[in-house]
This record gives sequence, C-alpha cells and structure tokens, in this order.
Amino acid sequence: MSDNLRREEQLIEQLAIADMFKPVRCTCGGIYDLGTVEVTGRYTDCSVWRAPCCGRTADDRGETGWKSTQDYTVLGKANPGGFRTDGERWWP
Ligand SMILES: [Zn+2]
Repeated sequence: MSDNLRREEQLIEQLAIADMFKPVRCTCGGIYDLGTVEVTGRYTDCSVWRAPCCGRTADDRGETGWKSTQDYTVLGKANPGGFRTDGERWWP
C-alpha cells in the first residue's frame, strides 16, 4: 500500500472514531465503539460482548489486568498513540 493511501486510511479512521464514546481496535483490525456494543454477558470480573466487526467474543479482562492478552486496543484520548495489539504504531 502506498504512503498516501495509508495516510488517507488513517484520516478516515480518525474521523470515524471522533464521535465514538470509547473507540477500540479489534484484534481483526476493525474499529468499533465500546459504548454501543451489545453486551451478551455481565460477570463479577468482566463484561462480555460480540465484536460488531467480526463477531468474535470479546471481554474487558485484558483492560483490568485479569489476563495478559487483550481482545481490543483502546484508541483515542486514553491511548493517543493508537498502538495496535502487535505493537506497531498506526496512528500518524
Ligand atoms: Zn473484529
């Protein structure tokens, strides 16, 4: 992919997450809003939902430290660097 296309893609992603309550990047590479996901289960230590981008089951234990692998990466204010789960920086 050319640098221009990559830059354009990043701009589109920035616009897409601008209005989100809590934008996250899924392990599949998709972006969705944690504020609008349909939670399928609530437990004492975590909530479980289905990622709208790929249908994978995700939970928030990665964020609270209950497990070492995260099902998503928080984007935006909390993580302005926007690091992907593989550690590569995608944010410009
Ligand atoms: Zn996904």
